[in-house]
Amino acid sequence: MSTLYIVATPIGNLSDFSPRAIDTLNSVDQIACEDTRSSKVLLQHFSIDKPVFSFHQHNEHHKIGHIINLLNAGLNIAIISDAGMPGISDPGFLATRAAHQEGHTVCTIPGPDAVTTALASSGLPCDRFVFEGFLPPKKGRKTRLEAIADSEITTVVYESPHKLIRFLERFSKFAEPDRWICIARELSKKFEEIDRGFLSDITEEWKSRDSIKGEIVIVIAGKSYTE
Ligand code: SAM
Repeated sequence: MSTLYIVATPIGNLSDFSPRAIDTLNSVDQIACEDTRSSKVLLQHFSIDKPVFSFHQHNEHHKIGHIINLLNAGLNIAIISDAGMPGISDPGFLATRAAHQEGHTVCTIPGPDAVTTALASSGLPCDRFVFEGFLPPKKGRKTRLEAIADSEITTVVYESPHKLIRFLERFSKFAEPDRWICIARELSKKFEEIDRGFLSDITEEWKSRDSIKGEIVIVIAGKSYTE
């Protein structure tokens, strides 16, 4: 029986990479990387010299067999994504399920992820939350937006910077202007920004910006939340 390690990597700040994550990557036989080029930067920075192979959303189904063959051959394998926790809006779930089904050990090395970092920074209720990840671009998007608008529980959404305004304008069609919302941008990086307030104010403020860059998480409080 071998071990599949799911290793969280920094979402921006390399100092967030844990000693245990480094030890684990140094101990495995091979590392499956979402993008071998970007992971090489991280691995070189921490002097981790292990064979890598690519494992991304376009070859995940195909590569699961490869990972299981390696585990069956007695090798220990780690999965890392470009940033954060594998499996969270990133490849990882299918390989983890397959490793369990084949009787291998799965060991996750905890670490950074954008969803809980944004949630913790938001100052919005985090006793219960729904993680929506990226909403579907077209089919089903309206239904999800309506459900979020109607939810009593905090919701976390990943969105690309160039679609943020469209998201806010569309969401404003379903939610009240005084809905509490937080935009968390560039978490753990130099230009980190946590901007919270009413949906209407946040929308106007971000619409007035010349450009919106960087990585973004949107945290939306439940519809009855006030402060
Ligand atoms: N696996 C990652 C995790 O654990 O959060 C998520 C990967 S997903 C492909 C990338 C999205 O995560 C970005 O579009 C953004 O919504 C969010 N994200 C990742 N890093 C971030 C950061 N430093 N600040 C804000 N959002 C971030």
